[in-house]
This record gives sequence, C-alpha cells and structure tokens, in this order.
Amino acid sequence: MQNKTNIVILGSTGSIGASTLSVIEHNPERYQVLALVGGRNAERMAEQCLKFQPKFAALEDEQAAKILREKLTALQCNTRILSGQQAICELAAHPQADQVMAAIVGAAGLLPTLAAVQAGKRVLLANKETLVTCGQLFIDEVKKHHAQLLPVDSEHNAIFQSLPHAAQEQIGFCPLKELGISKIVLTGSGGPFRYTDLSEFEHITPEQAVAHPNWSMGKKISVDSATMMNKGLEYIEARWLFNAAEEEMEVIIHPQSIIHSMVRYLDGSVIAQMGNPDMRTPIAETMAYPNRTFAGVEPLDFYQLNGLTFLKPDYQRYPCLKLAIDAFRAGQYATTAMNAANEIAVDAFLNRRIGFTQIAQVNQRVVEKITPQKIMAIGDVLEIDRKARELAERLILSF
Ligand code: NAD
Ligand code: MG
Repeated sequence: MQNKTNIVILGSTGSIGASTLSVIEHNPERYQVLALVGGRNAERMAEQCLKFQPKFAALEDEQAAKILREKLTALQCNTRILSGQQAICELAAHPQADQVMAAIVGAAGLLPTLAAVQAGKRVLLANKETLVTCGQLFIDEVKKHHAQLLPVDSEHNAIFQSLPHAAQEQIGFCPLKELGISKIVLTGSGGPFRYTDLSEFEHITPEQAVAHPNWSMGKKISVDSATMMNKGLEYIEARWLFNAAEEEMEVIIHPQSIIHSMVRYLDGSVIAQMGNPDMRTPIAETMAYPNRTFAGVEPLDFYQLNGLTFLKPDYQRYPCLKLAIDAFRAGQYATTAMNAANEIAVDAFLNRRIGFTQIAQVNQRVVEKITPQKIMAIGDVLEIDRKARELAERLILSF
C-alpha cells in the first residue's frame, strides 16, 4: 500500500483550516495530519487533536498552548504541544511534511509560509498577504529552494486549473506568452453593493457590508469583497503567481460566482473553471494535484442556475480596486502600505469609527504618504507595514 501523504496545516483552527480537515476526513486512506498550527484557540485545537491525532500541534500564544497541553494530557492524547513562532516555523519545514497548507491570516503567516518554501515544500497557498507584501522576495525563494506553489484562493485556483500543465509546473515564473496565453481573467461577484445607488454608499452599515451574497467568510474579507479591495489584493496575488504583465490581466464582475476565473488563449479559446462556491473544491484540488479527490462538495446543478452574467468594474463604485492596480505599478512598498492601511480602515469601519466610503480614502492617503522605496528584505516590509498602520490610525482620528 502507498504511504499516506503527511500534511501540516498552518491556521487549522480557522475557516480554511476547517475546510482542509473536512477534505482529509473524506479521504482518510490518502492523507494524515502531521501537525496542526493555530494562534490562540486552545478549545478548537484540542478538539482537532483528539479527532485527527497529529504528531504535533502548536499555538502561537504560550498561555493558550499551556492550557492545550493540560487538556490533552488529561484526555491521554499523545500529540506533542509546542508554542511560539519559532516552533511554528520548524513545523512548517518539518522533514516528514509532504504538503503544507498555508492558511494563517494576515502578516502573521509570512514567516511560517516562508519557512515551508525555504524547506522546498509543496505549499498550498491560501494566505494572500505573503504575496501582496513580499511578492518578489517570496517568488525568488520559491525558485531558489525548488518549492512547489499551488494556489488555494478560489480565483487563483480556477486560473491554475485553466492553465496548461507546463505553466502549472512553473507557478511564480511561467512564461505566459510562450505558452499561448493572452490574458488571465479574474472574476469577482462585485459584493452586495453592485447595484446600490452611489449616493447611498456613505450610509452603508457594517451589517450590510458583511452580508456577502454568495460566499460565507470572515468579517474582514467580507468587507473587502464589498469594497472590492479583496479583488484588488487578488489582482496583486495573480500578477505574482502567474507572472502576468498589466496588459495580461482582466477583471470582470460575475455576480453569480459560478465561474471562479478564466484564462484566454491566443487562438480565441477561453477556459474557465466552474463549481459551487465552496472552498473545499480548490483545497482538494491542491491536495490531490495532479490527481483528483472527493471533496464533499455538492455537484453543480445547472438547472438551478438563473443564467451567468458579466459586468465591467466601475472604479467610481470600487476605488479600492483601482488603488490596488496602481499600487502594484508603483511597487511593493505601495502594496504593503495599502494592505496595512486597509486592515486598520476596515477594522475602524466595523467599529463604526469611520464610514464605508472613508475606507478607500484612508487607503489612498496612506499610500500617498509613504515614501517610495525599494524592498530588499522582509525587515523592510515589516517596517513599512508598521508605518502605514500608524499613519492610518492618525488619519482616522483626524476624520
Ligand atoms: P481565519 O481567521 O478563519 O483563520 C485564521 C487562522 O490563523 C486561525 O487558525 C488562527 O488561529 C491562525 N492564526 C492567527 N494568528 C496567528 C498567529 N500569530 N500564529 C499562528 N496562527 C495564527 O481566516 P481564514 O478565512 O481561514 O483565512 C486564512 C487565509 O486564507 C487568509 O490569508 C485569507 O485571506 C485566505 N483566504 C481565505 C478564504 C476563505 O474563504 N476563508 C478564501 C481565500 C483566501
Ligand atoms: Mg478569492
């Protein structure tokens, strides 16, 4: 019998982590969990350890890890409990790990994801922030250490599936033109306000903004979908993953979220990936690649669809999308600053400190205020991230 594939899940207690464990549960003969990693949720981590019996589990927070250790000792679970970022990075690079799911949220995911890449692992990449802030550094490391990148974000996974095999094997540095590809087509639902009158935008509440029509997600990413900053971050992610020039990118609004993105070829062909909006599909695809496996997802019922429609994005409605496109052109300092400012602005909006339209204003002004500079190392990224957060906080206080 073939050996099982050993998986390390960074961010197992989150939404992508839970979907990954669900795919593993459907395929116990193929996959086993080597290590689970989370931030501070000892309760959820204890449940996951009991169910999946990993060799290791780590929580970033030391206090939470202590609670977890006590819980599991009482329940006679043999999982070894670790804590702190160093231990997390070691698990991400563990010699027995065949695949690493990188699904820690935010900048906290940077170093562990990088550790997996530097160990030459097969990395299933969900964390967008790595590419938005450290794109070039990250792709350089992938190349240097012969790591394999498989995109989990549903749009990027759809593009990956629509690419020829030769491109799939060179994620981060694929020669699109040489392979006959003319455009990467990124689709987005347009969020809940695609038909709302622009004059009403000022009065949009957090409750209205987090109610996404098609996907069930966390609050931050739901607000990002409403402003289309999520598409902006994904635009940046796509440019790095697929080595795409500005003129090779196209963003289209597709309200039903059935087509998850597409690739245009020189001969006029357009290849799209479709399915129900369920993250287990892209996760299972990256886990089984180049094969396929059951993901527990309902088959797409074509007779239930009320047509597929498409709209051009309007930058007046979605200024954050335009800002992200411009930021990529300006350089990594700008994408890093924009990402940091946006985290602060979205948080302030959710706490009713600023209005919906002010999110874009904060982001734009912070990017303008950061001095253009070349990013040479992770330290530069962290410094710009810190400065941008400070600037955003100050701006919000002045509103
Ligand atoms: P989530 O908030 O549900 O989960 C985040 C996970 O990261 C949790 O396990 C948390 O404990 C862990 N974590 C947080 N801080 C940590 C730290 N300092 N050290 C170690 N672990 C830490 O987020 P999510 O929705 O699962 O998203 C994860 C990533 O995937 C994000 O980067 C997001 O942009 C991306 N993504 C998510 C979706 C989705 O549908 N949820 C889709 C595409 C991409
Ligand atoms: Mg996405």
